[in-house]
Amino acid sequence: MIKRSTFKGGAAVPHYKNTAECETVKMGVPEKIIIPMLQHIGAPCDPLVKKGDTVKVGQIIGDSKSFISAPIHSSVSGTVVNVAPMLYPGGFNVTTVEIKPDGNQEVHEDVKPPVCNDSKQLIEAIRKSGLVGLGGAGFPTHVKLSPPPDKLIDTLVVNGAECEPFITSDYREMIENSENIISGINIVMNLLGIKKAIIGIEDNKPEAIKELINITKNGDQISVVKLKSRYPQGAEKMLIYAVTGRKVPPGKLPMDVGVIVMNVNSISFISEYLKTGMPLIKKRVTVDGSAVRNPSNVEVLIGTPLRDVFEFCGGFKSVPHKILMGGPMMGVAQYSLDTSVVKHTNALLAFDRVDSQMEPESACIRCGRCVSACPMNLMPLFINLHSLKGNIDELIKYHANDCIECGSCSYVCPSKRHLVQSIRLAKAQLKQAAAKGGK
Ligand code: SF4
Ligand code: SF4
Repeated sequence: MIKRSTFKGGAAVPHYKNTAECETVKMGVPEKIIIPMLQHIGAPCDPLVKKGDTVKVGQIIGDSKSFISAPIHSSVSGTVVNVAPMLYPGGFNVTTVEIKPDGNQEVHEDVKPPVCNDSKQLIEAIRKSGLVGLGGAGFPTHVKLSPPPDKLIDTLVVNGAECEPFITSDYREMIENSENIISGINIVMNLLGIKKAIIGIEDNKPEAIKELINITKNGDQISVVKLKSRYPQGAEKMLIYAVTGRKVPPGKLPMDVGVIVMNVNSISFISEYLKTGMPLIKKRVTVDGSAVRNPSNVEVLIGTPLRDVFEFCGGFKSVPHKILMGGPMMGVAQYSLDTSVVKHTNALLAFDRVDSQMEPESACIRCGRCVSACPMNLMPLFINLHSLKGNIDELIKYHANDCIECGSCSYVCPSKRHLVQSIRLAKAQLKQAAAKGGK
């Protein structure tokens, strides 16, 4: 059954899905590969290789004993030329393995399809594959698929919303690899004993909806839900509400309402991995923005420098004034092209001066638009105020930590107040206060 659903709040952002019809093109092996030992939410990995070592495609080069972490693999065969702290796309330094490819792309002998007969083996295989949430969040998938025994999961929600402007990498997956998505859903449902799966797709992706409805029409366990195009429809809590009507309470997780959410690319990867045994070493990235000559969807080896990806897309047609990893709403600004594509990179956007200018802030006029737009029912204007004043007690009172940093409040604010930026600052202030043992 198809219904058209959404959530409360959010913003109607323009789509600019310029690359929707751009079939994925494969980029070759670059001259160097830069692989940071942090490619996920959680503990960074320890490098397992050193300068001078030779590596092969799919070889584990970083791992961690921490549960919330995922191993990291080499995307090329070649020689390790450096292991040192280097600039990470988040703007700080992270231990990074630099590899000079030999061009042979020799595959490591450990790369073979895993045998999975039960949920334990599936979860272990997924950990070994290095899979993390490919929609942009980067949360390790084996952790997501390991709810405590008292949490009964009855629904798998598959996220095909892709609500950020410009990004079309999930859309292309739904068009180009729909069979893998369905096969991945069946694998996860069977091995984890989940009864029902719902694929949520925004209504600005009619081809993907058609494709997935067509492929699921003979079964009753998997359904497709057409979602209204409204940002941030793809945020977990909003998506769960839109497709199941269940509300995830503040401070709780999807598993608390019986749901696991997975991105379409992540679920498709599981199917491919079980067939080939090749871990996560490549990523489809949407490259777009007013400064990019040939906007495209590119399949890129993880660790490829951003500079090389933009060059592959024809380079810049005007001076890029803002470069983002991710979409314009939640992406992270890059100040160097020497960082590289990591597992959760789903877009690289470059904008010229006109499109990257921010209007100056003016005083809050108490219009309440930010409050109406907030999908988490927060009061961004007050969090902004108390963040600027450093009032920790008030930041707690206004639940600053519940903010999902979607940016809807900043987007709708007529006074152009830097609301989401100040809320990020508020969260850092709260973390600092907690570390000092105060709050
Ligand atoms: S939208 Fe902007 S101007 Fe309006 S109440 Fe919120 S912060 Fe103030
Ligand atoms: S306060 Fe946070 S969750 Fe609410 S609209 Fe702003 S960024 Fe989004």
